[in-house]
Amino acid sequence: MGYKTFKIMQDVTLIRDNDVCIYLVEGENSAIVIDTGYGFFDLKSKAEEITDKPLAAVFTHGHIDHAFGGHYFDRVFMSREDLPVYEKHTDLKKQMVNGEISDFIKKLGLSKAELEAWSRARPDKIEFVAHGDTFDIGGNLLEFITLKGHTPGSIGILDRKHRILFSGDGVINHVWMQLPESGTIDEYLRTLNSLDTYLTDFDFICTGHSKEPMPADFIGKMKLTLSELLEGAVGTPYENPVAGGMIYRQNGCEVVYLPERIK
Ligand SMILES: [Zn+2]
Repeated sequence: MGYKTFKIMQDVTLIRDNDVCIYLVEGENSAIVIDTGYGFFDLKSKAEEITDKPLAAVFTHGHIDHAFGGHYFDRVFMSREDLPVYEKHTDLKKQMVNGEISDFIKKLGLSKAELEAWSRARPDKIEFVAHGDTFDIGGNLLEFITLKGHTPGSIGILDRKHRILFSGDGVINHVWMQLPESGTIDEYLRTLNSLDTYLTDFDFICTGHSKEPMPADFIGKMKLTLSELLEGAVGTPYENPVAGGMIYRQNGCEVVYLPERIK
């Protein structure tokens, strides 16, 4: 158990945590870890097997499968808009350990004491970043851009040097828009339209779950799919123990949504 690593290109490594994608991007002076998975195992040590540069971490959003390895790092960034989601999932972590332990967690082989320590762990401090803020890792100025929709504080990390947008769950082929914290389909389409100014800056999208990078033109396909929903297209029922709704599959995209949250 633990992490598996895959080199995507020079200075960009994918670290897999179960079904979650964590990325390590190295600059000339420092390195950044994009998303931190569930945080069951020491992510910083794993990253230090790959780089000896100082590390910081950023959460693309506050969900349990992205933001809970932050306690391994001295510097952690996220959007302030996702703090309520982060706190809600902090409570969820405690419920997961105190209630019925899921098969997924049982398979990790951790003791009750280790799971309790995990449920309590959090970074000493979280630094908030906003749309347009940058972070310089040396020879590579990363920019944080809003991807709000899946959650209100979802952010992408734009890496113009490697021509990648790291998108978390904000731009992904199977997007969850049915959560209480998700925006409407209309709002999400506006977010994707706002990416037009960056489309010449990246060729690939590295998402929070798909192992292979997606081509940048995926955004156009998702915009078309959202437009169809806004124009009255209807999906089929989607059942999920976490959050059900409807699912609309079209143009290589899957959008999970609630009919009352289109506009
Ligand atoms: Zn998410």
